[in-house]
Amino acid sequence: MDIRHYTVSLTVDPEQQNIDGYTEIDLILSQPANRLVFDLTKLMMAKKVWVNGKEAKQDHQDDKLIITSAAAFNTGKTKVKIAYGGKPAVAERAPWIGGFQWEKDAKGNPWIAITCQGEGAQIYFPCKDHPSDEPNEGADMIITVPKGLTVAGPGLLQKVSHKKNQSTFHWKTNYTISNYCILFNVGKYKVAKRTYTTIDGNKVPLEYYVLEENLDKAEKILDLFEQSCRILEKYFGEYPWVKERIAASETPHLGMEHQTNIAYGNKYRFEKVGGKDFDWLLHHEFGHEWWANKVTNSDWGHMWIQEGICSFGDDLATRELAGEEAYQKSMRETARTLQNKFPVVRGDEVDSDSAYHADIYGKGAFFMHTLRYVLGDDIFFPTLKKLATDPQYTYDNTITTSDVEKLFSGAYGKSLQPLFHLFLYTTDKMKVLVKQTGEDKYAVRLLNIDMPLPIDIVTDAGLQRITMDAKGATITSKTPIQVDPKVFYLKQVILE
Ligand SMILES: [Zn+2]
Repeated sequence: MDIRHYTVSLTVDPEQQNIDGYTEIDLILSQPANRLVFDLTKLMMAKKVWVNGKEAKQDHQDDKLIITSAAAFNTGKTKVKIAYGGKPAVAERAPWIGGFQWEKDAKGNPWIAITCQGEGAQIYFPCKDHPSDEPNEGADMIITVPKGLTVAGPGLLQKVSHKKNQSTFHWKTNYTISNYCILFNVGKYKVAKRTYTTIDGNKVPLEYYVLEENLDKAEKILDLFEQSCRILEKYFGEYPWVKERIAASETPHLGMEHQTNIAYGNKYRFEKVGGKDFDWLLHHEFGHEWWANKVTNSDWGHMWIQEGICSFGDDLATRELAGEEAYQKSMRETARTLQNKFPVVRGDEVDSDSAYHADIYGKGAFFMHTLRYVLGDDIFFPTLKKLATDPQYTYDNTITTSDVEKLFSGAYGKSLQPLFHLFLYTTDKMKVLVKQTGEDKYAVRLLNIDMPLPIDIVTDAGLQRITMDAKGATITSKTPIQVDPKVFYLKQVILE
């Protein structure tokens, strides 16, 4: 099945910590099927199911909802409606161990957030919970809450209606969206707004849904949003969702990259970068609008593309605000703190939980730093932008590590496969053998990578960029040589 669209319609009861309503799934069946299977936590009780308007049988076991009928379901457009409800799982440690948060703001008003990047959207609506199948035509969220509260959802607000003591908010996105971003936040929010003009001249609403108690900080968040957007657009191209909005909602958890409605919970802890205020959390989650929401890996096994390149975007903010030296220093710091326990890419059997080991962030970002050095800025930056803007890698299309390798190899004009293999598929460092062969002669060669690579070597004549390979080169210097002093590679220098 190919998922086309979700409509999630729920009434949220903060007192009972309960949700109740229905989900409609539009999909295309590529062949006739005797059964349709969706992911849905067993904490949600499926009450009734319809396929193309006709009631169907359902069996709900082990977080799978299996829908059957006497006659097979036909090929083509299919509409499945599922009525359900229950008490969703409460987040143990949001955003890392997700679920619902039924919190209160300082004035005692309900403040509700959802996080489910690892757990999947099946914790509150039935869906096909795999990153390779996003709803290409978007999603509608119709959420009913007690009057006085505001719902923030994905895309644009279509309508708010009030009935007795309840308010219903209809949010709609027409863009393809990851399941774990089809969600809502509830609070006694105020909305700070302005208009942002993108790098390509499009005008986009910029909004921050802020708790009343923090309204005085909202303008500062909008300023920092603009600052981050200018940096990210410079390197990765125009903001991806110009027909909708740039937005964040204040949440009780630290943050998450929810498309067009990122979660912000960094409590206004700004830091100074190059003398300017900066909010790393806001910048990182916002960077995911490009890396995760627009450019999506097709499987959890390639999660470094989303987290590693997004983290590299954080380093590029340092470069923009504090300069190249500060950027290089932060990359050296990243290299020092890597765990290197598992390869960044471990194959497709990795699941959503185990995908998030630490190195996909730091080592993924550092790998981009290495690529930048090897390719040089004139090739590297336009190629990175191509990855973030070319239709074959973005929106409806999902990518793997091999797509990234082929793109960069093509731009470089030579295969970078050995470099990708060493740094992403193994925990080995690049081994550089240095052997003094005479009073002022050094033989230098690469031991475990079979391709010529540029490398910085400091000799008595200063720093030189030399092309090195497994055969090696002879370096002349009256003083002991230094290999890659600025740390563009994760390496081990072996002195013989
Ligand atoms: Zn991230």
